[in-house]
Amino acid sequence: PAKATSLDKEPINNSDDHLHYRPDGSPYSQRFNDIYFDTQSGYQQSKEIFIDGNNITERLLQASDTVTIAETGFGTGLNFILTLQAYERAQKSTEKKLPPLHFISVEKYPLSKAQLVKSLAILPQLANYSDLLIALYPQGDPDNFPNNLSIALPESFLDNNIKLTLLFDDATAALTAFEPHINHSRGKQKGLIDIWYLDGFSPAKNPEMWGSELFNQIARLSKAQASLTTFTVAGFVKRELQRIGYRTEKLILNGKKADAQRAIFQQNPITRKGYQLRPTITKPQHVSIIGGGIASACLSYALTKQGVKVTLYCKDMSVAQGASSNAIGALYPLFHQQSDDISLFYQHAFLHAKNLYQDLLKQGFHFAHDWCGILEVSYKDSLVKRQQAFEEINAWPASLIHGVNAHQASEHAGIKLDHGGLFMPHAGWISPPELVKQLFNAAEKTNRLRIKCQTKINKLVQNSHNKSWRLISDKENFDASVVVLCGGAENINIEQLSSLPLSATRGQVTSMKTNSVIGPLKTVICHKGYLTPAHNNQHCIGATFQKNNTSDTPTSEDDRYNITMLKKCLPELTQAINWQSEDISMSKARLRCMSQDHLPLVGAMPNISEHITQYPHLAKDKNWPYQAPAPCIDNLYLMTGFGARGLCSAPLAAEILTADICNTPFPVNTEMLFNLSPNRFIIRDMIKRKI
Ligand code: SAM
Repeated sequence: PAKATSLDKEPINNSDDHLHYRPDGSPYSQRFNDIYFDTQSGYQQSKEIFIDGNNITERLLQASDTVTIAETGFGTGLNFILTLQAYERAQKSTEKKLPPLHFISVEKYPLSKAQLVKSLAILPQLANYSDLLIALYPQGDPDNFPNNLSIALPESFLDNNIKLTLLFDDATAALTAFEPHINHSRGKQKGLIDIWYLDGFSPAKNPEMWGSELFNQIARLSKAQASLTTFTVAGFVKRELQRIGYRTEKLILNGKKADAQRAIFQQNPITRKGYQLRPTITKPQHVSIIGGGIASACLSYALTKQGVKVTLYCKDMSVAQGASSNAIGALYPLFHQQSDDISLFYQHAFLHAKNLYQDLLKQGFHFAHDWCGILEVSYKDSLVKRQQAFEEINAWPASLIHGVNAHQASEHAGIKLDHGGLFMPHAGWISPPELVKQLFNAAEKTNRLRIKCQTKINKLVQNSHNKSWRLISDKENFDASVVVLCGGAENINIEQLSSLPLSATRGQVTSMKTNSVIGPLKTVICHKGYLTPAHNNQHCIGATFQKNNTSDTPTSEDDRYNITMLKKCLPELTQAINWQSEDISMSKARLRCMSQDHLPLVGAMPNISEHITQYPHLAKDKNWPYQAPAPCIDNLYLMTGFGARGLCSAPLAAEILTADICNTPFPVNTEMLFNLSPNRFIIRDMIKRKI
């Protein structure tokens, strides 16, 4: 790194009258009239804001490469010490070796070693880690400390590669001069820092440390999806973070300080392609949702949790009457052999869904379910080859999906099977109507949800002045400031959606009374269709797939199709069954809303004609950067196109749309956001010169 110079030019008066100690022994800066860290609850506040706020443990466990943390204001080194503690705990929780950690901190008024020792002495619980720092901290007069000091922790500490770089200089000057080896990809800077701790003294007392140029440097050095936390909730800090491409949210704390600030580096307004920029709106007080199934339920829950009031318009007598009304739904991710965009989305979505559902159960919102795993049976040669390819490429952790032989498959199934397959141990089944009702119950508990059933919205008309909406139903009309279409196939006929590539596909699921042959089944089996374990003495056998058929009346022909498929794929199982037609009843046909590329549409409704006039150059150069955000229809959002995978993908989609509406950080990166963005089809068509 280039040598920063301000220390040379301007000697720093680091005399003892700068640092004072309060009666409880905690360090206090006379110069800035501010504390180094809150000692009321030991070090709890620092841990909550910097360690927990940045999910340090999870990030370390998930990272495959060096994790780089940068801090403004090293002070006593408490945050570094807490990071060491988190690192050690994370390492102890896993068999795999954690990646290296590089901690970079800037400090203009360094403490002397004696001051550091005295300051940390009030936290004897952390002595193991403080001692490590103290041993490495430079001796002598801080005025003579080198500008840039790189220290490696001794290998005896976890035998991992942990490095501390201390830049003893003004924060802005040090970061400006910092020219680390940054990865470059196709000429674009990809950044260095994964995690920021902004821990200067309060902006009101030390404005020099919070200037615009410091934020420019943060933007220059941040990796995509870098996270940042700071104790200050000052409005200008939030605005500066937003200016440089961070999306911010409140971080709720448990102690005497109510909240802090967390941000994620996304949507860099300078370097991103305009059509990938999602429009930002001021967080509304109220949102109207049209729907009544899993998508609406997840969104109502996510929005109400963020303090937004929701009115839900559902066309049926009660919620969960459409595709979410099937007795059993399988919850599992879609994996291809390679970790392509679709599989990455479903992997992320599956983990998110599972966390949300577990959390609901923990809160006491019960729904029938069984995390019994899912077995994709390799019942024909092409599937055996696919299984071999999965095992060879090894793109996914075995805990998510792994190959099993016929014996292992039979063990998982509880029934003798002739073939092996791919097993997903954490997948399972859920009762979708019970889940949907519980999500609405959880949202209603906030007192922010109102559900209006038997209200079919047929048309949306926008007020050209204030851009609000009038929702036209069969009976009455309603006003809405922000509208989200979540109604799946039912919404396809709404005029605004007509130009998007969405289609309704009928699917019939056959319900069959259990019997002694399939009764013992204890995992979901997927073949060309699927067979579930019994729930309320019924198995579900799915499902037909008929494009251009919008009838929801079940037919015996479709039941025959489902059973024929099952017999063909799992003859060893079905030959033993004495098929009685009276055992088949309560079959159900519903419509799925399918997108062209098997990913849902999540985000603002694009203004298609304005896209065509705004991005004409894409036909000539697909990398043409255009800085204006994608033109969208104001206050109209979509969350649809889930196909048969809403149980898996709706929770993550709801978090993304809530981030759009509430202006908070997105849970996925910019590429994934664009893969879900409703305008992706128009952009792809323009690049391919189809329009
Ligand atoms: N993170 C520290 C810890 O864990 O002890 C506490 C940091 S304290 C709140 C703020 C720190 O910022 C002080 O150590 C102070 O000397 C330093 N500081 C103040 N102005 C600065 C500047 N312009 N550049 C760099 N550091 C500065």
